[in-house]
Amino acid sequence: MPIDHKQPYDETNIFARILRGELPAKTVFETEHALAFHDINPVSAVHVLVIPKGAYVSWEDFSANASDAEIAGFVRAVGETARIVGAEPQGYRLLANTGKRAGQEVPHLHVHIFGGQPLGPMLA
Ligand code: IMP
Repeated sequence: MPIDHKQPYDETNIFARILRGELPAKTVFETEHALAFHDINPVSAVHVLVIPKGAYVSWEDFSANASDAEIAGFVRAVGETARIVGAEPQGYRLLANTGKRAGQEVPHLHVHIFGGQPLGPMLA
């Protein structure tokens, strides 16, 4: 069920539980500011999620409220993860669904990295 990206942060969401070590994840990369792990239901040969460690509901919340250090750390972690999983140098796609109308299901910011194969045209 897609979520309202303006809701208060829900500490019980799946990715908060992964960050607390309560649920398992296939970790790819971890830094002070970010955690990257394989999507449980991959839709491309490479499908990895990168999340900030801070409690941010969405891209909207993160871009407005995170510190510059958190933002820089997160953006660098996305790029580094793409290199680690081999999505780079072939090329890859980033996606951050933001809110109900965009189909965001987990209320903790996550950027999808899709790659490892040719990707079709972007669907809006
Ligand atoms: P959204 O639609 O952008 O919110 O994407 C949520 C993503 O989280 C989907 O691609 C799911 O397959 C993925 N997902 C849900 N639960 C887990 C999990 O426990 N581990 C890894 N990925 C998950």
